[in-house]
Amino acid sequence: MFDLKQIRKDFPILAREVNGKPLVYFDNAATSQTPKQVIDVIVDYYSNYNANIHRGVHTLSQEATDMYEQARQTIQKHFNIAKAQEVILTSGTTHGINLVANGYDAFLNDGDEILVSAMEHHSNIVPWQMLCERTGAKLKVIPMNEKGELLLGEYHDLLSEKTKLVFCNHVSNALGTINPIEKIIESAHKVGAAVLIDGAQAAPHIKADMQSLNVDFYTVSAHKICGPTGVGMLYGKEELLQKLPPYQGGGEMIAEVTFEKTTYADLPHKFEAGTPNICGGIAFGEALNYMNAIGFDAIAKYEHELLEYATEKLLEIEGLKIYGTAAHKTAVISFNIDGLHPYDIGSILDKLGIAVRTGHHCAQPIMDFFKIPGTVRASFSFYNTTEEVDILVAGVQRAKNMLQ
Ligand SMILES: *Cc1c(COP(=O)(O)O)cnc(C)c1O
Repeated sequence: MFDLKQIRKDFPILAREVNGKPLVYFDNAATSQTPKQVIDVIVDYYSNYNANIHRGVHTLSQEATDMYEQARQTIQKHFNIAKAQEVILTSGTTHGINLVANGYDAFLNDGDEILVSAMEHHSNIVPWQMLCERTGAKLKVIPMNEKGELLLGEYHDLLSEKTKLVFCNHVSNALGTINPIEKIIESAHKVGAAVLIDGAQAAPHIKADMQSLNVDFYTVSAHKICGPTGVGMLYGKEELLQKLPPYQGGGEMIAEVTFEKTTYADLPHKFEAGTPNICGGIAFGEALNYMNAIGFDAIAKYEHELLEYATEKLLEIEGLKIYGTAAHKTAVISFNIDGLHPYDIGSILDKLGIAVRTGHHCAQPIMDFFKIPGTVRASFSFYNTTEEVDILVAGVQRAKNMLQ
């Protein structure tokens, strides 16, 4: 049962005030809030069994190791991953992408091609540009239309035997578009290219199945799925992870070290140099348990209702334009009002206790495409309410009256 009242009680932060008004938190695409179940796990870790993992013979270290590895299994099960060693715990999506991009140095040659979509987050553009600079490979862009939908016909034309890698987000953080990644993956595989999907924005709304997607790499950040910051997952197919050279050297990632030569540890440890975010990993597992107990189908259904309601109400405001009108989208609304700067609208909303994001949302190429400096972005989560949407709409109307 989807019990909104109970759910809201789980999030202590939702009870606070901002500028004397009840907080309305609509910046969920930047980071989600944390339920007390996850906060409790963090307090429990530091209160009762804080220790380094995989090294100690002592009890605390064994308890911490067991909990950390249990979290890895929770993550494995959630994403339907075949083997636990295919789950690399990272510091987040950005880390996961850089890990793969750096490893690919070994496999790319001058003249090879990498395709990225036109609606990527900077963290899924810059590492590939750096990779191209190092290897001489060429970056090509899969274009989109005015609704913010990728043009699959053009994508197919870009694919060739020169294509070695394809990168695309599952859901666009700036537009909310849910991309047809099944088709993107299948077509890339036909020319022998590997695919990395940035799942950072999809994970809070869609339970992605790594085996049925047959994706090569998939990255997420825990802090967008009710978990803490500084931890995330990189999924990779075992055979690819075996071939990929390690990204960082250090403790934990070695089998044997002499000054002449080092051999690397088995997966996943080869990619997990140094002391990881142990508490964060355990809390990440708990966040997935929390969301699964509510159920991703119920979450998606409710968020879709919020999206439809908010879209209808916001469009009643004269001069308001929504960017990102794809047929399939998550509960994200990017908008502008004729003649007004997004930052000014965002500042007035903050005075009213409403948290939205303004700016380019780490996706400048999208803003260039629409020829705008940025947008106001309201992004919804399953703990938001229609009453909060009404407060937003009234706030935007008020900002418009004040600024025009
Ligand atoms: C948030 C986000 C990222 C970056 O995630 P970090 O946690 O900052 O590493 C990458 N891609 C998309 C689509 C995002 O929404």
